[in-house]
Amino acid sequence: MPTDKLDFIRADMDALRESNLLITLRTMGSPADAWMIVDGRRVLNFCTNNYLGLANHPAMKEAARAAVDRWGVGPAAVRSIAGTQELHVELERRLAHFKGVEDALYVQSGFLANQSAIAPLVGKEDVIFSDRLNHASIIDGARLSGAKIIVYEHCDPVDAAAKIEEHLPNYRRGLLITDGVFSMDGDIAPLDNLTEVADRYGVLTMVDDAHGEGVLGRGGRGVVDHFGLQGAFDVEIGTLSKAFGVVGGVIAGKKAIVDYVRQKARPFLFSSAVTPADTAACLAAVELLESSEELVRRLWDNAAYFKSEMKRLGFDTGRSETPIVPVMLGDAGLAKQFSRELFEAGVFAMSIGFPTVARGAARIRVMNTAAHSRDDLDQGLAAFDKVGKALGVI
Ligand SMILES: *Cc1c(COP(=O)(O)O)cnc(C)c1O
Repeated sequence: MPTDKLDFIRADMDALRESNLLITLRTMGSPADAWMIVDGRRVLNFCTNNYLGLANHPAMKEAARAAVDRWGVGPAAVRSIAGTQELHVELERRLAHFKGVEDALYVQSGFLANQSAIAPLVGKEDVIFSDRLNHASIIDGARLSGAKIIVYEHCDPVDAAAKIEEHLPNYRRGLLITDGVFSMDGDIAPLDNLTEVADRYGVLTMVDDAHGEGVLGRGGRGVVDHFGLQGAFDVEIGTLSKAFGVVGGVIAGKKAIVDYVRQKARPFLFSSAVTPADTAACLAAVELLESSEELVRRLWDNAAYFKSEMKRLGFDTGRSETPIVPVMLGDAGLAKQFSRELFEAGVFAMSIGFPTVARGAARIRVMNTAAHSRDDLDQGLAAFDKVGKALGVI
């Protein structure tokens, strides 16, 4: 009697369940906003990356509706055949201007931006220097390129320099890649020191600004602007699905590189273009950001207030320097229970465990946004206080 072909799945699912690592999907019954209906219940939302509240913004929705009327619902082609609409070209021009770079390419997601941008630049004869905590989409994009991957210690330019010095001579070209803001800790890569190291050895540089765009820098121009390093990175990856509130990714930077990626990137050449509604909404987001810094300011005011109050209550908020606030709990079971009890108290804040973060470093992650009022934050803080005391965390 042969064994059941799917036994391996059952065994792995059991193991995930036993170690409190099984992902359970909650279902949203309302748009992304400060308050949401989650699994049928109205709760205060700390889980979305909707930093500026644009995901349900009237001007964004109007732009999307108008684009559907003017352009239909889908381009029905890849960009390189018949899928490049005037909207895409206009968005790319506006994004390049917003970020202060020579050129930009709009792709279907931030994840795909990393699958698109790395392989054209490095291959089997080359080496990638990658921060230990880089995002999964960077890791996968790096693997896809076939280049050797050398990991340097998190946010450590001295270790990056040592690794480059040791390994670069064995390869044709090097590429240093880092997240701008690390999404699970909310800390910021030392871009000034990293570019200095990369320039010293002549390696290419790439920064993924998914959590910096719309958040850091002047009027949300991103992490490179935050450091005043405009033009210093060869490639800047971004997403339009976080602060911009829509969907899509961007590959921005030197014109020669962006032009080359247009020729080579397989997700660009073999997967259809982003829809007119999404593209037009992204354009509206750029316009909103360029017209006022008010939303970015409110986001940072909220984050500063929430973080200082959490510290006052006795929570460990790790190394956060941004509106991402990890509430460090350690044990994955404790983090899950904490999240469940917060939900019972009317607050939606997810626990995050392995493999998204290291084993034993489980946490609740709070995403602050400009959509929250001070009263919302006070209600959230009261729930953290109550659950933290009940579970003996504070
Ligand atoms: C979220 C994220 C992505 C993926 O962006 P999507 O647009 O959601 O695909 C890529 N890189 C980093 C660093 C991210 O945080």
